[in-house]
Amino acid sequence: MSTNAALFERAQRVIPGGVNSPVRAFRAVGGTPRFIQRAEGAYVYDAEGRRYIDYIGSWGPMILGHGHPAVLEAVHKAADEGLSFGAPTEREIELAEEILKLVPSMGQVRLVSSGTEAAMSAIRLARGVTGRPKLIKFEGCYHGHADALLVKAGSGLATFGNPTSAGVPPEVVQHTLVLEYNNVEQLEQAFALHGAELACVIVEPIAGNMNFVRASVPFMTRLRELCTRHGALLVLDEVMTGFRVGLHGAQGLYAQLIPGFRPDISVFGKVIGGGMPLAAFGGPREVMQHLAPTGPVYQAGTLSGNPVATACGLATLKEIQRPGFFEALAQRTRTLVDGLAQVAREAGVPLVADSEGGMFGFFFLEQLPQNYQQVMASDKERFNRFFHGMLERGVYLAPALYEAGFVSAAHGAADIDATLAAAREALR
Ligand code: PMP
Repeated sequence: MSTNAALFERAQRVIPGGVNSPVRAFRAVGGTPRFIQRAEGAYVYDAEGRRYIDYIGSWGPMILGHGHPAVLEAVHKAADEGLSFGAPTEREIELAEEILKLVPSMGQVRLVSSGTEAAMSAIRLARGVTGRPKLIKFEGCYHGHADALLVKAGSGLATFGNPTSAGVPPEVVQHTLVLEYNNVEQLEQAFALHGAELACVIVEPIAGNMNFVRASVPFMTRLRELCTRHGALLVLDEVMTGFRVGLHGAQGLYAQLIPGFRPDISVFGKVIGGGMPLAAFGGPREVMQHLAPTGPVYQAGTLSGNPVATACGLATLKEIQRPGFFEALAQRTRTLVDGLAQVAREAGVPLVADSEGGMFGFFFLEQLPQNYQQVMASDKERFNRFFHGMLERGVYLAPALYEAGFVSAAHGAADIDATLAAAREALR
């Protein structure tokens, strides 16, 4: 048996930083990443045979828990029939039909392999449809690592963003304007200055890449109005929230709060593939018809609509439509966040928490933050100590304070109790 430490050392010799996606390296919290050997239900098991209650769930996809029998059966059967054809299949139609049934703002959908690809393609589509170059994104929202989206705010509303990664030339982000999340006034000023040149605004409706921050109703209302008035497309990035905060995604929730609310383009990932590489973007048929081969906006993929991934996604979407699924998941997640707040109160530690469906966040702050700056004001040292305290007690939280958490249908009341007992000790 190899230890996590030995594996980490070996990994760093052959893989940059020992990981294939940076956050896995525990850089933010320090310490040794756990090398996962297998997973079952609500648990992951590391290379040393230790069990953890898993609140990462592969960063969102595993809404049914690990190894759900119906999903595994569908995947095994699909794998037996062939791993990839690079040709259309009936299963892709079935998945598209299922998605469109659940997301009425979309008339057509295109399947891709990652959230990055979906968001990048959605932006290209918006630019192609409008014939305009510029886009707005918000500080703290993440939409994958396409060049044009790796941007932080410039020095003012008239200046466009600066790259957040080496290897992205400033010219590539010169059309991306980065604004503060939930800031209506800034949004209005930006539209007044740049409205005629804006192709789209891309936004996470509940931002899961700065832990858990809801777009306020006034903000989302104004955003929709401004996009409509100026002819810019509203792109809702539901990679994290889609089929996770509710059966109809965050757009389903906002449609209940804002009459007539609907995005122009939606982006999905994570749950939609149930743990296999699958993501999607879609919108009204008139918009989607601009894509190749029917239209001039190019977009393609060797493994797009992969038969095993689509089988996994379909089986997952079937399960989450069972009566009462989201009610039970939301209640369990609520019990967790309310419990965390209670345990922290008892320990005299400032902590606020929020959840929607099976997605949650908590902050060592006095009140829920509204934007990236407020999120980053939370107590990082305390978070890091809490993270390690929980990990030692067999609870696997996201290893960075700016990441959301996920509860699955496999998390039972006993798991929540065990988590809260661990938190009580860790906070002491
Ligand atoms: N958009 C959002 C909202 C995300 O949370 C993520 C991934 N965490 C992405 C896009 C990118 O997805 P992927 O990692 O599959 O490329």
